[in-house]
Amino acid sequence: MSHQTSLILLKPDTVSKGRCGEVMKRFEDAGFKIRGAKMMKLSNEILAEHYAHLADKPFFPTIVEFMQSAPVIAVALEGEDAISRVRDLLGPTDSTKAEKGTIRGDLGEDMMINCAHASDSPESAAAELKRFFNEGELLDY
Ligand code: ADP
Repeated sequence: MSHQTSLILLKPDTVSKGRCGEVMKRFEDAGFKIRGAKMMKLSNEILAEHYAHLADKPFFPTIVEFMQSAPVIAVALEGEDAISRVRDLLGPTDSTKAEKGTIRGDLGEDMMINCAHASDSPESAAAELKRFFNEGELLDY
């Protein structure tokens, strides 16, 4: 077991549909602690960085458009094995293939409109927490 902090983005679909509380309840019920939370409109620059691994895909402009269709809420979640356990709660990228009981299986629409982002490794969590939170914005309590 490893104590970790993961970077979550509640995506525009979750914010627009008023499902932030439901998604956060699942994370809190699983025992994760909120260390930071911030509502943001994502710029082209931050999205190009965050989705650099998809920049050459034909659907990249569509992802940017979706991610800018409403604000997102960036959340830092801390707990034991937070990175893999949060992704297990979320389910696979394609919501239509996600099992019922997972966040994407219950609330997601498709491959793109899938409720939330969550860091996929300790290395990406470290980079993503820096990307979305400034020094001093992750709080101890
Ligand atoms: P994940 O978010 O599950 O880690 P990826 O890093 O592969 O998945 O993709 C980032 C995001 O880009 C996905 O969550 C989804 O919103 C979008 N995306 C990925 N693949 C596709 C695709 N084939 N068509 C449309 N959108 C996609």
